[in-house]
Amino acid sequence: MSRRILSIALDAPLDTEFDYLWNPASPDEAEPVAGQFVLVPFGRREVVGLIIAVKDDSELDAAKLREVIAIRRQLAPVPDDWIALCRFAADYYQRPLGEVALPCLPKSLRLEKTVALDRALKKLAQQKPAGEPPEPSSPPVLNDEQQAAVEAIVGGGGFQVHLLFGVTGSGKTEVYLHAAERMLQRERVAARPAQALILVPEINLTPQLEANVRARFPQMNVVALHSQLAEGERLRHWMAAHLGKADIVLGTRLAVLASMPHLKLIIVDEEHDPSYKQQEGLRYSARDLAIWRAHQQQIPVVLGSATPSTESWQHADSGRYRKLQLKQRAVTNAQLPRVGLIDMEVNKAPDGLSPPLVAALRARLERGEQSLLFLNRRGYAPVMHCDACGWISNCRRCTAFMVLHKPERRLRCHHCSLEMRIPVSCPTCGNVDLQPMGRGTQRVEEYLQTLFPEARVLRIDADSTRRKGSAQAAFDSVHRGEVDILLGTQMVAKGHDFQRLTLVGVINPDTALFSQDYRAGERLFAQLMQVAGRAGRAAGKDGQAARAEVLIQTRYPQHPLYRALLAHDYEGFARGTLEERRAAGLPPFMFQALLRAEAKELQDALDFLAQASALLEQEGITINDPVPMTITRVAGVERAQLLLESASRPQLQAYLKPWMRALRDMKSRIRWSLEVDPVDI
Ligand code: ADP
Ligand code: ZN
Ligand code: ZN
Repeated sequence: MSRRILSIALDAPLDTEFDYLWNPASPDEAEPVAGQFVLVPFGRREVVGLIIAVKDDSELDAAKLREVIAIRRQLAPVPDDWIALCRFAADYYQRPLGEVALPCLPKSLRLEKTVALDRALKKLAQQKPAGEPPEPSSPPVLNDEQQAAVEAIVGGGGFQVHLLFGVTGSGKTEVYLHAAERMLQRERVAARPAQALILVPEINLTPQLEANVRARFPQMNVVALHSQLAEGERLRHWMAAHLGKADIVLGTRLAVLASMPHLKLIIVDEEHDPSYKQQEGLRYSARDLAIWRAHQQQIPVVLGSATPSTESWQHADSGRYRKLQLKQRAVTNAQLPRVGLIDMEVNKAPDGLSPPLVAALRARLERGEQSLLFLNRRGYAPVMHCDACGWISNCRRCTAFMVLHKPERRLRCHHCSLEMRIPVSCPTCGNVDLQPMGRGTQRVEEYLQTLFPEARVLRIDADSTRRKGSAQAAFDSVHRGEVDILLGTQMVAKGHDFQRLTLVGVINPDTALFSQDYRAGERLFAQLMQVAGRAGRAAGKDGQAARAEVLIQTRYPQHPLYRALLAHDYEGFARGTLEERRAAGLPPFMFQALLRAEAKELQDALDFLAQASALLEQEGITINDPVPMTITRVAGVERAQLLLESASRPQLQAYLKPWMRALRDMKSRIRWSLEVDPVDI
């Protein structure tokens, strides 16, 4: 055995792999292979990298190459197709391979020392199922629509995207579980190892689903992967997936990058959800990567939603995706709630809740049923102001207001986290009577308590659930019926199967109707459908389900979005949206990339973008003018952006590669980043 050159990916902002020298310590030391992790010197540090290729020669002067320090032989190499997945993501999102493949690993895999890794391996080797196996639950008998969906998913061979379009409460989860079970069993009978990956949009949904999955499949090894796991657990779960020990991996977007050598089925629940898009570092779409991965593995992927994204709907329309529809709620007698609009031009509501909404809440309290109020704005009031001189609570570091948080008696900027005590008097004129303007969840909570002193009101938002486990505890108490009125932000809108809920009130969602973000309408519609879908899910006694009601306070009751919502008409809404997008030349009929620049002075950021736009001209690529971002300054940094568009995805991709190279060669001191398929423009 003789020396080898190893091509290694490192987590470094250089778009290249690095050559290192490997010499066998003894004549019979096994040769390294691609997919193994290694410790190498890099600058003055020692870092962990991933072997991409083993070669005989280097284009560099071999005498100058540095030597590998150690190969992590205790860990099975990641498979080639995992590297291919990272390679695809790196190419598509225009990042170095190492910046994709390494940051998505559990931290302790990337440490110089292998203590944690060795401990985790030992634990996995001895692993017995933890504690008592849960009480096995028996599955409901699927209805015809569910049955047909399961057959379609497991019946076909090879790659297929299934769009599972099912109204809220139609039992999509059962379709996922049956499909996974059938798939895993079929492979097992054929003595082929198999794994299923289930993605959910929200960490708070994982415990409920995890419990359901475990109870359904007590004999299977189910692991969760999300960002709030303790490091030891994250590592063990990642390795269980990587070593093929986990049958089912359940996770948030980052789980799409897990190494799963026997992947046979991927499920993306609530595929339209914006949280599948990573918004920093590698700005990937977990849904899109899931589809790519399914194609690579030639396996089925299921995208589930009551309100599919326009992209997915368009693909289903054109026949690229197969549409599977669930039209009815699954529980007998459960039905979709009635939706009503409360015209806020007619109904005045100085404290945020109109008389009809208050009356509806009172009726639920009297009958001992639960209500949910949805207000997508946390804090007490979004801004404070002074009547006397016009002062308002601007953040001094951002183009944004400081939000009033009354329980903590502080003003807080939600963009840069700057905090200060609530001023006792106006900073400019000394007026002591500063007023909160507008309202957030804390203020509505306060009002509810004065309105219904006897009611048990629970607020769930990012502020009330900061402590680890507190969100879970809060949702548990709702499920146990210890809450009369649940109040919250989009945290409460997603996925939860609240059984006693018969009223959903939506407070002032109108702002999204006039947003400059072209996706705001689509997002609002999905959000409202979803929050509405929390009501009337149980069969209930004495016609409880029949009383399920959704009341939306709006100044624009004639707006087409609300009209579609009244009729539960997603399809009509989607048709209208797609027509508008086609006419306006917007996604999904256009492909975009967004270059962002940050600088102390806005002009510097704009100048940089102007230079960038002049670097490379190409027919079929539209480069728009550089513009300041909507929230221009955050934490003292000015931000601007440049939008690129093309009617052809391959053409855009072909343009980006050389353009990025030219951008890097500018060696500008401006901080910049590129986002492919941006969602917030
Ligand atoms: P979705 O995800 O489509 O909103 P869920 O999967 O949460 O809906 O299912 C809604 C409810 O219907 C759950 O309580 C679930 O247990 C129940 N359910 C699902 N399928 C059936 C079925 N075939 N028969 C009876 N109940 C069912
Ligand atoms: Zn003042
Ligand atoms: Zn700020």
